[in-house]
Amino acid sequence: MTIQDLIPLGPKTTMRIGGKALYYAEILTEKDVEEAYAFAKEKNVPLIVLGGGSNTIFADEVINALVVRIKNDEMQINENRVTVSAGKILGSFLNDLAVKNLDLSALTGIPGTVGGAIFGNAGQGAKGIWIDSFVESVTAFVDGQWKIFSREECDFRYRESAFKEMTPAPIIWKATLRVPSRPEADVKAEIERLIKKRIETQPHIKTAGSCFKSLPDGTPAWQLIDAAGLRGTKIGGIQISEKHANFLLNVEKGTFEDAVKITGLIKEKIPEIAGIEMRFYDTEGRLID
Ligand SMILES: Cc1cc2nc3c(=O)[nH]c(=O)nc-3n(C[C@H](O)[C@H](O)[C@H](O)COP(=O)(O)OP(=O)(O)OC[C@H]3O[C@@H](n4cnc5c(N)ncnc54)[C@H](O)[C@@H]3O)c2cc1C
Repeated sequence: MTIQDLIPLGPKTTMRIGGKALYYAEILTEKDVEEAYAFAKEKNVPLIVLGGGSNTIFADEVINALVVRIKNDEMQINENRVTVSAGKILGSFLNDLAVKNLDLSALTGIPGTVGGAIFGNAGQGAKGIWIDSFVESVTAFVDGQWKIFSREECDFRYRESAFKEMTPAPIIWKATLRVPSRPEADVKAEIERLIKKRIETQPHIKTAGSCFKSLPDGTPAWQLIDAAGLRGTKIGGIQISEKHANFLLNVEKGTFEDAVKITGLIKEKIPEIAGIEMRFYDTEGRLID
C-alpha cells in the first residue's frame, strides 16, 4: 500500500467538492486494510473510508485524516450464492450477475460500490427493496479485528446498518449475497427499464444523490422540500435540483460551505425533515449532520 500526501478529493466524489486528504491510499488487499488502520493509529488521525464517493462530500481545505479508497473487486458465484468484494462497482456487479441469469435489478441505477451500498443499506425508497434483502453475511475490519457479521448482526434498517454506528469507522471488505435466478434477457430488460425511468426523474450531473431520508411514514423528502417552495433554490454554486427536489447539484463551482448552508436552510424551513443521507466530512474528518 502506498500512502500519498495531499491528494485532491473532489475528483473522487460525484459532487466534485472537496479539498485534499492529508493522507490518501488505495486499498486492494487485506494486508493494505491492516496497514492503513495501523498508519491512522500511529499518526493519530481518523480513517475515512471511501467507496465510489457517490454519497460523500468533503470540506474544502485539507482534511486531517487518512482517506482510503476501497478498490478490491473480485466476485465468486456458487449457484445463487455470490461473494463479492466491497470495492466492486454496484452497476457492473448487476450486469455481471445478469449474464449468469441472476437478478439484482432492483438495485439498478444506484452509483457507487457494493461496500457503500451495504454501509448505507442502499436501495429503493422507504417502502422499496434494499440491498439487505439479499445479504447473508458481511466481512469487515472493525477496530483492528476481522469479523464476519450475519445478516441479523448487520442490523439493517432503512438507509441504516450496524456499520454506520461503529466508531472508529469499520472497513467493509466483502459480502455474501443470495441472488434469485431469472433469465438474462428478462434481467437486462428490467435494468434497461429502470435506467430509463431514472434518467427521466433524476439529475445525474455533479450530485451526491438523495440528501435527506424519507419520513418514517414513507413521505419522500422531495415532497416536503417542494411544498416548502425550495425547489430550484440556489446558494453560491449549489442548487436544489429542479428535476428532483431532494438532489443537490453543484452547478457553479459549489463549495462545501454552500452545501452546508443549503441543507441548513432546508432543515430550518422543514423541521420535520428526517435524517440526512449524504455524508459531509469536515476538515478534522468528522461527520456533520
Ligand atoms: C445520481 C445518484 C442516484 C442515487 N440513487 C440512490 C438510490 O436510489 N438509493 C440509494 O440508496 N442511494 C442512492 N444514491 C446514493 C449513493 O449512490 C449510495 O448511497 C451508494 O450506496 C454510496 O456508495 P459509494 O460507494 O459511492 O459510497 P461513498 O459515497 O464512497 O461512501 C458513503 C459512506 O459509506 C461508507 N463506505 C463506503 N464504502 C465503504 C466500505 N467498503 N466500508 C465501510 N464504509 C464504507 C463511507 O465511509 C461513507 O460514510 C444515489 C447517488 C447518486 C449520485
